[in-house]
This record gives sequence, structure tokens and C-alpha cells, in this order.
Amino acid sequence: MTLVPLPAFADNYIWMLQDGRNAIVVDPGDAAPVFEALARGNLQLAAILVTHHHPDHTGGVAALHAATGAQVFGPARETIPEPFTRLSQGDGAEVLGLRFEVIDIPGHTAGHIAFFMPADAHNAVAGELAPLLFCGDTLFSAGCGRLFEGTAAQMLASLDALAALPGNTRVCCGHEYTLANLRFAQTVEPGNADLTQYTAHCEALRARGEPTLPSQLATERLVNPFLRSREATVLRAVHAHAGLSAQAAEADVFAALRQWKNDFR
Ligand code: ZN
Ligand code: FE
Repeated sequence: MTLVPLPAFADNYIWMLQDGRNAIVVDPGDAAPVFEALARGNLQLAAILVTHHHPDHTGGVAALHAATGAQVFGPARETIPEPFTRLSQGDGAEVLGLRFEVIDIPGHTAGHIAFFMPADAHNAVAGELAPLLFCGDTLFSAGCGRLFEGTAAQMLASLDALAALPGNTRVCCGHEYTLANLRFAQTVEPGNADLTQYTAHCEALRARGEPTLPSQLATERLVNPFLRSREATVLRAVHAHAGLSAQAAEADVFAALRQWKNDFR
């Protein structure tokens, strides 16, 4: 089983898992790079996983489904091209002998879901690729998605749920936003040595034209300000930036951190 990010548009990744004969793709915003990868590898498309309804994640679904008959799995509470199997928290998706667990992660969109493949006996065929997480536009490396349809409290709870997964989880995000996110993270936590080291690592990858993803969840806990909004360093920085009252709740701090990033250039 191998995992590759197929670049699409300016900075999207369409994730492909394949076993040499069959493939799964996640969030195919464009069908063309998927058709190319299928032809190149002489692969059959078995399934399409969709994390949320945005066109840059769903634009290729209809054409791929029509051409291959691949089963589509998507968020129960969102509108994506029909037909698809509607999934929400606690549901599972079985494809190519792999079992994905569905986690509700509202915030970026109201019905956003994640697909988590645990490293258990059932997923032995995945080898060292498990545990694996497809989190769409909710968790990015060193960042998180914008709050288009949800509240800060929802996004914070969603990120908490993802942060609780095993530290060796490979984090497959929907966009290559890492370097821009790291510039912001450095502004929030200039004294974070893990962040400095990770930034150098990612800059070297990008200089070679390589993706910074997948990332490791353990690394995200050390460098991602949106997973660290309760850390003293981040709290102090957000309070100083936004002038929050001392009584500000966790979700208020998170909201101020997200707003700071929205305004950051
Ligand atoms: Zn999106
Ligand atoms: Fe997106």
C-alpha cells in the first residue's frame, strides 16, 4: 500500500492510497490529476472519500464516479454530488480491506468529517502507513482552516478530537499551506525551538519542490499554535495581541488567535 499526494490547482492535495491494482482518492477537487495517476499506475479507482463540500475538494467527484463506478463516501450533513454513502461520527468505511473511522470535525464547514485509519489488526495491510488521518481543511500543518460555517468553540473541539489521536498518526491535509502557517506560528511563539527546527525542515522540503505533508501528529502538537491555544506561551501572545480580558474563555482565546491569523500578512 502506498500513499501519494496528487497536486491540484494552486495548493490542493488529492491524496491517493493504492495497492498496485486499486486506488482510493480523498477530496478530488479536479478529476484530471486522478485520471492521470490511475492511467500511469494502471489502477482501478475503488473509492472516493470526501471530507467536506467545498468545490476544490469535490469538483472531480462526479466525473470520477461516472467513469469508474467508484463508491463515494462523504459527510452526512453536507451536499456533495450524489450518489454517496453518508457518514458521521462513529460510522466506518471499509475499502480495499482498510477500515476508516469517521470523526465529526465541524468548524471550517458545518458538516466537515475526518477519516482516521487506526493501526490495528484490521488495517495490517496498510503496514507502516497506519495510523493515517485525512482531515481536509480542518487541521493543516502548523495551522487550521478558516471558520466559514462554524464557531471557534466548534473548531477548538474538533482540533481537540484530532489532537487526541496517536502521536505517530500521519496527517494528510487538503492544502500545502505549511510555510505560510509557519510564518504566523513563529510570530506567535518566537521562542519555540521545535517550531524553529520544523520550519527549517519544511523550508528544505519546499526548496526541493517536495510536499511538507503528511505531517506527524506529535509534531503538530509541538508546533501548531491552533493545537496549543492553552499553552502559556500562546495564551500570553494572544492576550498581548488582542487585549483580551483576563477572564477570556478558551474559545475566546482560540477565536482571537484565528482572527490574528486572518489579519496576518
Ligand atoms: Zn475547504
Ligand atoms: Fe480547500
